[in-house]
Amino acid sequence: MKITAVNVYPVSELRTFLFVEIETDAGIRGLGEAGLTGHERAVIGALDYLRELLIGEDPFRTEHLWQTMFRGAFFPAGRVLSAAIAAVDIALWDIKGKALGVPLYQLLGGLVRNRVGCYPHIGGETTEELIEAAEQRVDEGWRFLRWGCPADGEHFEPAAAVRRTISRMKAVREAVGESINLCLDVHTRLDPSDAVTLCRETEPLRPYFIEDPLRAENIDSYRMLRARTGVPIAAGEQYASKWEFRQLIEEDLIDFARIDLAICGGITEASKIAGWCETHYIRLAVHNPIGPVSTSACLHLNLAVSSFGVQELPRRPNESLADLIVNQPVWERGDLLPPTAPGLGIELAHEALKKYPYEPRPLPQLRREDGSFTNW
Ligand SMILES: [Mg+2]
Repeated sequence: MKITAVNVYPVSELRTFLFVEIETDAGIRGLGEAGLTGHERAVIGALDYLRELLIGEDPFRTEHLWQTMFRGAFFPAGRVLSAAIAAVDIALWDIKGKALGVPLYQLLGGLVRNRVGCYPHIGGETTEELIEAAEQRVDEGWRFLRWGCPADGEHFEPAAAVRRTISRMKAVREAVGESINLCLDVHTRLDPSDAVTLCRETEPLRPYFIEDPLRAENIDSYRMLRARTGVPIAAGEQYASKWEFRQLIEEDLIDFARIDLAICGGITEASKIAGWCETHYIRLAVHNPIGPVSTSACLHLNLAVSSFGVQELPRRPNESLADLIVNQPVWERGDLLPPTAPGLGIELAHEALKKYPYEPRPLPQLRREDGSFTNW
């Protein structure tokens, strides 16, 4: 079998998405998705380069093609190229599953679990609204909840945000009880001193994890935080390869690895990181803020790895792009269930593409009250 085309489809709906479709001379097509929302046009440029490497190649050679894409131009891939590689790699695994007539998880080791627990995103301007959203999700069957460290409109002041975050988590814990797992996403908004305060003060509330309490650039800063709090920590959604995860894993700096399959090299790279996590008893909490192709790829990996914690699922199947990405997986009371169709189990309905023309959209930005930039 040979690769004959690499088609790139940026689309806009609730957010922007970047899908990749790989065609073969056997008539089998595979689907992938690239992360790095906001930088789609750079990823599209990277895909133009990868297309030249891929046409005529055997799609079954996922490891060889990954090495060629990551290292082929001498300079190792950074985040933009790695997101493009991720989309291609997911599509190649989809092709393999379809060609062999089995769901992708069968190629990754088979089922190690029958369902994959997920967390939704909740929010609310006021604490009352947040509690209402939490209770509604619990009623729907979700056992995990996730919300963020609040900004005040376009402004973010760390000390005030930390105080508010602590009081909101207390209120949610009181409302939903002890059996619901609480995940807080700080979204890299805090400096170390504020992050330490937040982590220590939330320890008694037993969150499932505090996510991205620090910025991602300096991994050593997690060593400092680790020494000063016992709260479970999740990080990694901004990393683009196993090498960026290396220190976090080898020094036991995290409890949950937030691998993004659509940024961090696809199924091939995520499987390696998952195995590495297993040696340190670190669980996966895959980052999945984007579209239904990413959701399916995460689902198959999570069905087949032992080092699983929870999967992010901001939108239930068919809440987004239901007519474009068809045969999305089944969700049941907080869990995604194993798909039965070959490959990822989903298909691209080309005729629906025209309904979602791509419009580049900048991500939101936050400022401190003095006008200086701070992470969103
Ligand atoms: Mg996050």
